[in-house]
Amino acid sequence: MNVVAQHDPSNMTGGEWEIRCELAALYRICDLYGWTDSINTHLSARVPCEPESFLINNYGVLFSEITASSLVKVDIHGKIQSGPGTLNSAGFTIHGGIYKARPDVNCVMHTHTRPGTGIAVLKRGLRPISQDVLEVYDELAYHEYGQPSQEAEGLALGVSCQQGDSIILRNHGLLTVGATIPGALHRMYMLNRACEIEIIARGLGEDPTPIDPGVVAEYGRRIKRQRATPEFGMLEWRAAIRQIEGRGTNWRQ
Ligand SMILES: [Zn+2]
Repeated sequence: MNVVAQHDPSNMTGGEWEIRCELAALYRICDLYGWTDSINTHLSARVPCEPESFLINNYGVLFSEITASSLVKVDIHGKIQSGPGTLNSAGFTIHGGIYKARPDVNCVMHTHTRPGTGIAVLKRGLRPISQDVLEVYDELAYHEYGQPSQEAEGLALGVSCQQGDSIILRNHGLLTVGATIPGALHRMYMLNRACEIEIIARGLGEDPTPIDPGVVAEYGRRIKRQRATPEFGMLEWRAAIRQIEGRGTNWRQ
């Protein structure tokens, strides 16, 4: 499914405009899925062929309002390069820290979903008790809560994101990364699902049925191979695009 606009603004490369359209679509998908928290949390994508630059939301704009041309372009040192608006300093700390530490990452998603934040406040975290959690369990990492907007926090996140691509930010929320936007989205979808199932399981007051450790390990090996392909998350991405197109296509503006 093509999410690229029919025109390329003259002040940027076609690659930048294409990724702007994809990232704007990602914001709309998060809105569709109910993953928003007013104007807070943030999603970003690295600009193609410009490894020190990424795109992020103009702080104050709702996810349902975000368009390709409204995104702010910023470098990994915090300097706004183009675009209207305001940079959320806490958002820059998170995303800038990860792009510096992970050259292979081209998309970062951060959410405060209720299931994700609910699990993030508990000491035990996720257990390998559902098929959903096995989608992320082998690459799950935890990041201790630090001072928002501080350089030290960006550096600490850079260390945590070396441990895995699906991260529970303790006392805070969720974070996923990907080589592609669809890959990061698929991780966030499964991580959030895993948190929902964990909360349901805990609330029922009964021990869950365990999954054989050998099955858990083999599932991890299989999903790792899938993640290494460019098609990872693409079927789900195309389906989500069809869903948001049902609400209109003005994110491409
Ligand atoms: Zn946050």
